[in-house]
Parts: sequence; C-alpha cells; structure tokens
Amino acid sequence: MKLYYKINTYGCQMNVHESEKIAGQLIERGYLPTDDDNLADVIVFNTCCIRDNAERRAFGNVGALKKLKKAKKSLIIAIGGCMTQQPGVADMLRQKFPFIDIIFGTYNLSDFGKMLDDRLKNGKKFTSLIDSYSLNENVPIYRTSGTNAWVNIIYGCNNFCTYCIVPHVRGRETSRDKQVILDEIKRCLDEGYKEITLLGQNVNSYGNDRGETNAFASLLADISKIDGKFRLRFMTSHPKDLSQDVVDIMASTPNICNNIHLPVQSGSTSVLKDMNRKYTREHYLSLIDMIRSKIPNCGITTDIMVGFPTETEEDFLQTMSLVEQVRFLSAFTFVYSPRNLTPAAKMPQLDECVKKDRITRLIDLQNEITLQESTRCVGGVYEVLCEDKVGDNIYCGRTDEGKLVSFSSDYDLLGQFVNIRIDSAKHSALFGKVEV
Ligand code: SF4
Repeated sequence: MKLYYKINTYGCQMNVHESEKIAGQLIERGYLPTDDDNLADVIVFNTCCIRDNAERRAFGNVGALKKLKKAKKSLIIAIGGCMTQQPGVADMLRQKFPFIDIIFGTYNLSDFGKMLDDRLKNGKKFTSLIDSYSLNENVPIYRTSGTNAWVNIIYGCNNFCTYCIVPHVRGRETSRDKQVILDEIKRCLDEGYKEITLLGQNVNSYGNDRGETNAFASLLADISKIDGKFRLRFMTSHPKDLSQDVVDIMASTPNICNNIHLPVQSGSTSVLKDMNRKYTREHYLSLIDMIRSKIPNCGITTDIMVGFPTETEEDFLQTMSLVEQVRFLSAFTFVYSPRNLTPAAKMPQLDECVKKDRITRLIDLQNEITLQESTRCVGGVYEVLCEDKVGDNIYCGRTDEGKLVSFSSDYDLLGQFVNIRIDSAKHSALFGKVEV
C-alpha cells in the first residue's frame, strides 16, 4: 500500500528548504508526495511567525483539517517551525486543536522522522520542543526547487532587530563547515542543478562564530572555482555586514550572479536606530554606490517595512526618497505587525489607517520604478536559465540580475541557459523570444 505526505510551508526560503528536509525524512520512510489532503497519510505544517498574517493563515488551515481527521483516524497531523518554537504556543495549539498528533520546533526538525516513528509505534500524541540548536549534517534532503538547489551556510541570527522574532526562535548564529558546504554543492551540481542559492539569515556573518575572518568572501571564491557552468546566488545580506571583499569577488567572478538582496527596512536613520539595525541611511546609500561602481548592472532588491511604531510622516518620506534614489529592481514591502517577545511590540503602535496609507504610497512608487526598470530591458538580449514550464510551450527563468523572463519555445529548454531577446515588459516580468 502506498503512503503519501503533504507539507504546507509558510514563510521564507529558509522554511522552503527546511520543508525539503522534512520531506527527505518522509521519503526515507517510504512516503510519496501529494498535494491532496484527502490522499495524504501525513500532513505537516511548517510554520512562520515573522508576520501576523502567516500565523493566522496557518491556524485557519490547521483548523480546516478537523473534519478530515475525524473521518480518517489514521491521518497524522504535525505542526512545526518558527511558530511552535515560541514559548506558550504549543500549549495554545493543544487546547485549540487537540487533534494535532505531533508538535515540534525549529531546533529539532532533523528528528521529525523519529517523532513520526514514535507516534505510529506508540499511538500517543506528543509535543517535542528543545531550546537550543545543534548542527545535524545527516538529514536527508528531498529537493523540490527545480533547477535551483538551496544550500544553508549559516543558521540563526545574532542581531536582535527590535521588531524581529527570528533570533528568539532560531537561536544564535551557527555556521556550517566550509568543506561540508562545498561537498553538498558538488553533489547538487553532479545531480544536474544549475543554480545554487546559499541561505542564511545573515550570510555575511558566515564563519564569525567559528572565529574566521572574511569567511563569506572566501567561501564564495571557493564555490565559484568548482567545475561546470552554474550560477551562484545568496541571501540574505545585512547592510551592516556586507563588505567590499564580497562585492569584489562578485564583480570578478562570472558565475556569481550580479544580484544582491539588501534589506533596507527604512530610509530614516532615526527609525533604523530604533529598529537596532546598526547602520544609517548614509551607510546604506554608500553601499549602493560601492556595489554600482563595481557592478554597474547589479540587480538590487530589498525589503522595506512601513508603520514601525516610531515612524513619523517625515521618516516615511525619507524611505520614499531613498527608494527614488536607489531604484530597486523590486522590493518586498510590508506593514509592521507587533511580534511577541520583541521590544517594538511594547512601544505605542501607529494607527492602522496611517500604515495602510503609507504602504499604498510606497507600493505605487516601487511599482512605477519596477516597470521603468523592466521597460529599459526591452530590445536587449539576456542569458536566462530556463527554470520552469508555465504553459503550452511557455517557459520562464531568470537573468543573471534576477529579472523574471517568460518566453515561448517548441523545444524543451528546462535546465538550459538560453539567450532571450526581450520584446515587452509588464511590471517586473519581461517577455521575449529565443535568440538563435
Ligand atoms: S537580521 Fe534582524 S531582521 Fe534579519 S533575522 Fe536577524 S533579527 Fe531578524
């Protein structure tokens, strides 16, 4: 009899990759993936608590399974990730959703398979949470990301931005051994992956916890020397830690993409101080100048938060002027929501109408810039890694700078690098034809 699993993933790329590790443990036990709740024997929720709406969506979707669990007693429902790692959340989940079988946290995700074995053997529902992280390099990974392979280089975060819960649920920075990372990447390339994306909450501090200096630049240099044609990306960079060495190695190494995600969060130095970001508006702008002087065509993207408790209209206008000045390729914009355990949650909060008005103005501005930047590409020819088939003979992929391109082809081009002439642009998407 075939057994199936379904994983519902919320949040960032880190969570997407961690779901690949949960999947690896399920595949190892003979389960097969499915998207159908009714077919699944195990349903896992890998949750996020960075923002309020991700939490609410997860609660809603867990609650919706009550009926299914009643009809299919053998169904195992497990919930893990950042949300469950917060103090008190497991108890609340037990009360609200008594039908959940397994509750686990971010620190013991690598034991999920054993927890499932226990649940099936003993028949008892249980919660398993530990309060610190230790590296486990022996977790099987079932990659689901097409041509791209995610590779963690560092876990946790030491920064304690005042709005952010990540350091509270993912612990302090723990870097992986360089040789272990290089071996994993070589395996991915041997398996046919064409792009490697290095992951960490703050990739620039890779190696600091091991007493190494310039370790991230040196890691990039070593990875880029691996044989074969592939692309290398990384995320996320922290503006206080991004160094010239890293930008130099990006500029001088063709297989490191000219693409950097550099979250600014606010254009106001005073708000950045209240956020404990440890850089100023001027420092951020000097980084942008440094990147563009060395990599003129670098695709720079960012995260911007509006509605932080101390943000005044004047502060917000500084964010708008920074956006106009930098001209990001795209920006992930979001409204601040108070997170348990964080200092900013205790500050007097801004009115929701003020936040809504600011996010609308910011999105309008960024959309205009994104469209202008996309339109500038029309007529150009870009090398695109074909990542997905999205319709009959329609494929999509990204340029080196990270621009999304759709194009048609009568041939299967998945996983190949192709030159595409861009003939139109819509918002952040480019459309073109294969250049022969
Ligand atoms: S750098 Fe700041 S925003 Fe990013 S994960 Fe760490 S605490 Fe959170």
